[in-house]
Amino acid sequence: MLIVQKFGGTSVADIERIHYVARKVKAEWDAGNQVIVVLSAMSGVTDNLVDLIKQANPLYDAKEYDVVISTGEQVTAGLLALVLQKMNVPARSFLNWQIPFTTDDTHGRAMIKHISTDNLLNSAEMQKNRTIAVCAGFQGVTATEPKRVTTLGRGGSDTSAVAIAAAVGADRCDIYTDVDGVYTTDPRIVSKASKIDKISYDEMLEMASLGAKVLQTRSVELARHFNVPLRVLSSFQEEITEKSGTYIIQEVSAMEERTVTGITCSKDETKITLLGINTIDGAAKIFSLLSNENIIVDMIVQVEARTQGLANLAFTVSKNDSAKIEKLLKDKKDILQFDELHIQDGLIKVSIVGSGMRTHTGVAAQLFSSLNQKNIPIHVVSTSEIKISVLIDEAYMELAMRTLHTAYGLDSN
Ligand code: ADP
Ligand code: ASP
Ligand code: MG
Repeated sequence: MLIVQKFGGTSVADIERIHYVARKVKAEWDAGNQVIVVLSAMSGVTDNLVDLIKQANPLYDAKEYDVVISTGEQVTAGLLALVLQKMNVPARSFLNWQIPFTTDDTHGRAMIKHISTDNLLNSAEMQKNRTIAVCAGFQGVTATEPKRVTTLGRGGSDTSAVAIAAAVGADRCDIYTDVDGVYTTDPRIVSKASKIDKISYDEMLEMASLGAKVLQTRSVELARHFNVPLRVLSSFQEEITEKSGTYIIQEVSAMEERTVTGITCSKDETKITLLGINTIDGAAKIFSLLSNENIIVDMIVQVEARTQGLANLAFTVSKNDSAKIEKLLKDKKDILQFDELHIQDGLIKVSIVGSGMRTHTGVAAQLFSSLNQKNIPIHVVSTSEIKISVLIDEAYMELAMRTLHTAYGLDSN
């Protein structure tokens, strides 16, 4: 079998952990498999590099940002290859340009263009003794000369692993992390979270995009698109069996389908409210302005105001963008024509996700009555076919998550 194994930051946090990872890699190799490994930087390293960049130049150039933050993965790839070699397992490291793993030039969140598989699999060097390719995750290289280093966005090693698995047609892509699978909610916030054995790509995609950082959203999109058999499991667990971890699959059978599969939380949300905008062109002008600045807008609600022809608009953005947006809106007040602007920080978005929602009734009623019983005020609501999200005050995060987890019967025994 051809297997891709990805190990995250805590799994390669120091030399002792890297030895542990090497044993997991060796076990697959000893079983006669061809193995490709994809690694993150040691935990905390990328954050420190971001800090250094900001100290060097707060108005940093995105191209040089990528040069710096991609280095953590070079270190772990080399170290794991060294440890494997010490264990008499043939291994060599690969950096982005050696694969090559090409992307566009959207620095900081580059899109993958092409992954060559020849160097990873077919060269004489790699075919001899099933040599293990230890790839630096997270990084890419542009196709156009003079080439530049790129990165795939924070948490992007998951995406590197799935993309490589898709390119080589791997039989399995195992994502090793510091929890033993995908849970009904973040087990570090809700202690009664339970492990999910199987979850559909669609549900995992919603959970990831709504804050479950166990997998980068793009990795799930890619896995769904290329039908990559994906599993999340713990690098800390000694014995791995068929039953270990969480399988991410096309469809969970109707019998196993839950109304609500999981609860997620995304922090640092800001609500922007504009009172008295024009009902015809108000929203169009505002969102074009934000889109020109590459600002991502999430929840949007518009309702008619008391005065005919006017409306009130509320939307949410990441807290990181709020200062920039405030300035933009105030600077352009004459063109945008609104009466009042209000900006509220300190909010979070809690979401319930589950494909069973398509067919079950009363899911929303349950959510509102549960939050009501705990006196939790709701600022904005948004829904899709398989999720409901509410924007609430940060102070209620744990209470809301615990309450909903219990209300939908997700608590572990
Ligand atoms: P890695 O460094 O291995 O990529 P991450 O820190 O990116 O690991 O992701 C793993 C973390 O994701 C866990 O430690 C956990 O706190 C968090 N997490 C959030 N939501 C969930 C969830 N629903 N199931 C499992 N883990 C989750
Ligand atoms: N090291 C990168 C980060 O911290 C990529 C990853 O770990 O997936 O975002
Ligand atoms: Mg991660």
